[in-house]
Amino acid sequence: MTFKELNLKGEILSAIEELGYEQPMPVQEKTIPFVLEQQADLVALAQTGTGKTAAFGLPILNTIDVSRKQVQALVLSPTRELCIQIAKDLKNYSKNMRGLRVVAVYGGEDIRTQLRQLDETPQIIVATPGRLIDLIERGKVALNNIDFLVLDEADEMLNMGFKEDIKTILEKTPETRRTLLFSATMPKEIANIARQYMKNFEEITIGTRNSGSENVEHIYYISLAKQRYLVLKRIVDLNPDIYGIVFCRTRQETKEVAEKLMQDGYNADALHGDLSQAQRDTVMQKFRIRNIQLLVATDVAARGLDVSDLTHVINYNLPDDTEVYTHRSGRTGRANKSGISVSIIHSKEKFKIKDLERMLKKSFKQLPIPNGLEVCKKQLFHLIDRMQQVEVNEEQIAPYMEQIMKQLEYLEKEEILKRFVSLEFNRFLEYYKNADDLNVVEQSRDRGERGERGSERGKRGTKTGEKTRLKMNMGNQEGITPRRLLGIINDFTNDKSISIGSIEVTNKFTFFDVYSDQVKQLLNAFSNQSEVVVVEAKGSRSYDDRRPAKRNTQGSWGERSRGDRKRTHYGNESANQDKPWRKGRERSNVGSRKK
Ligand code: AMP
Repeated sequence: MTFKELNLKGEILSAIEELGYEQPMPVQEKTIPFVLEQQADLVALAQTGTGKTAAFGLPILNTIDVSRKQVQALVLSPTRELCIQIAKDLKNYSKNMRGLRVVAVYGGEDIRTQLRQLDETPQIIVATPGRLIDLIERGKVALNNIDFLVLDEADEMLNMGFKEDIKTILEKTPETRRTLLFSATMPKEIANIARQYMKNFEEITIGTRNSGSENVEHIYYISLAKQRYLVLKRIVDLNPDIYGIVFCRTRQETKEVAEKLMQDGYNADALHGDLSQAQRDTVMQKFRIRNIQLLVATDVAARGLDVSDLTHVINYNLPDDTEVYTHRSGRTGRANKSGISVSIIHSKEKFKIKDLERMLKKSFKQLPIPNGLEVCKKQLFHLIDRMQQVEVNEEQIAPYMEQIMKQLEYLEKEEILKRFVSLEFNRFLEYYKNADDLNVVEQSRDRGERGERGSERGKRGTKTGEKTRLKMNMGNQEGITPRRLLGIINDFTNDKSISIGSIEVTNKFTFFDVYSDQVKQLLNAFSNQSEVVVVEAKGSRSYDDRRPAKRNTQGSWGERSRGDRKRTHYGNESANQDKPWRKGRERSNVGSRKK
């Protein structure tokens, strides 16, 4: 299909041709004829980057009466950046339409400039909800004549708490308006808004509902929590041309990761809510023009950052919400380009990958963390590629050539190459010279019980002395078993000599004994994160102090535990009914530890 076949006006066709759009994208093929030929409302499930601005923008522009000096279309969007981007796109599409005005109004900027721009009434307003209400209340914007209302990234607007504002705005628009709602996901609240405010709406889906972009490859690496940053560096080093966003959970983590990357010589910067609007603008601009290769950001701060050719999205942590993952990964693989969404996960988060696979209907590939040798090889050949492709400015280099040749004449070609390569490459060789293997070794169930674990049992059983009872904030509900507990302790402490005594797993908590001289080490290992919380149990009296210890065939690290007596409860179906991923989880996650 061509744009011409979509019956768009000549002025619009010439503008999009100048922009280099050759043929409509799928969302445009579906939406443009619908908006032009039908009278109904529309709910479109489409990700950012699928071409949805043109999908609603082109048919709306096609129907605008330029001679009518009234607001005829309103586009609501969640962020200032998106607002600016949409207005820019609409201006581009309408640049050959004389008399057509598009004005963007959004918070975070002096309202007086926007008030001036509204003095000469535009036909299209692109707005963030809060600022628009302000302008309506000042009597500067009237919506009683609009023909089209577009709710763009509706799910994001709800996430950002604009629900009431959207309702207020909807109620100020005429019943006769047509509403076009675009959303990447379809949570219940969106369906409610559609039901309440939209008439006979048609629903179209671009790609699978809730699926990420087709062009995105999803991969993950399993890492120990404390080695996350080292793994990130390996990923970046393995991809010398990376241009991507590293998503972190909190502002603090964002700052820390960005600072470390900068200190380590990477071209990175941070984007988070503690920055002023001006600082955020500067960082985003630097990233857009590729002055920055890696942007470390929180989800909220990265919203509205419109960059379409990211090579990678890196999830420094997996988000709790699968929809957040969809949004993150949807930032790469846009406009028919391919992209990679990388996640660094802890072995106990594998169930989250399963959830994502189910939800996105895509498989995720686990890759081994590259070793130093692989990284060095990749960097070396990247350097060689660059050398092959570099543009040589003969004219400018000519005056120096004679002297250079003379200076190097005693060196063979091979020697010159070695030295040239070493110049750039030594820092990698040096850094990776003694690099550790960061891969986490996952044990199978059998090996876990009889093999390595057996020898460990012996070791654990030999220690004697006073014990302290500790409490962990996860229990049967989270799929904890004695074996899983040991796996978690191994992961966090990376020290197999810590002896664990009786284990008792209740629905919500796990209690276990530790020799008192190892308590501090164990608590310290868990202190730097919030997910797994281990504290001294109230009273701190070990189970064995209360009950004489008995050896059993299970061994159980020296003592029979109450936890063992409750074995039938592990993997309890009823406790896990609402969490299908709990089943079978223990097999893959138990006992991971560093080589
Ligand atoms: P959007 O989803 O509106 O943010 O668009 C994503 C990117 O695709 C933007 O950079 C658009 O300029 C570009 N784009 C939109 N429609 C087309 C098309 N038909 N052909 C090529 N690029 C397009």
